[in-house]
Amino acid sequence: MAGPRQFAGDRLVIASHNAGKVREMGELLAPFAVAAVSAGELGLAEPEETGSTFAENAELKALAAARSANLPALADDSGLVVPALDGAPGIYSGRWGGEERDFSVAMARVQSELETCSSGDRSAQFAAALTLAWPDGHCETFMGQVDGCLVWPPRGERGFGYDPMFVAAGHELTFGELEPGHKHAISHRADAFAKLVAACFAKRHD
Ligand code: IMP
Repeated sequence: MAGPRQFAGDRLVIASHNAGKVREMGELLAPFAVAAVSAGELGLAEPEETGSTFAENAELKALAAARSANLPALADDSGLVVPALDGAPGIYSGRWGGEERDFSVAMARVQSELETCSSGDRSAQFAAALTLAWPDGHCETFMGQVDGCLVWPPRGERGFGYDPMFVAAGHELTFGELEPGHKHAISHRADAFAKLVAACFAKRHD
């Protein structure tokens, strides 16, 4: 059986219009001598996230960019998964911040919904799907996860999104308090990226 398709080129599209994500993925790709160009720089349209899972959304974003740019493209989709809330906010994590992307509102909603749960379960995961897609429609998708629990009130000014209420397992500081390099080393995105590199870029180390 054939293994994962190898990335053999020297150029790919980062299918994101988020400058922070483009920078982070560009830095992660730096050791592989890959020139990364963003969907924004190429003027590519941003597809609607109509999938029902992180993987479906990552695939539809990566495929749309790969087909329009005629180059391999990398996209991710991520969010906070709270088992006591049946997995919410999940793929809607960004949308819980509203038009203004106000995550103090989104965190307060997570907290108030947790207060109505009788289980007292405050466990949570950050999850990420990372897809490398080719213009012929082939996709390789990898999932990453970091387990932890939710604290209240939120703590720390670093990070973004739900970071100030998330403490990774084995840690005491929230992702909003941790030094950014430390968060990036243990994050769901780092986990997915390590799997992608091992599967699709492995031959470049030979
Ligand atoms: P998307 O992957 O761009 O759709 O963003 C998903 C949303 O999930 C973000 O807007 C954040 O609210 C949340 N999220 C994803 N990763 C993180 C993280 O590392 N820390 C905090 N929030 C995150």
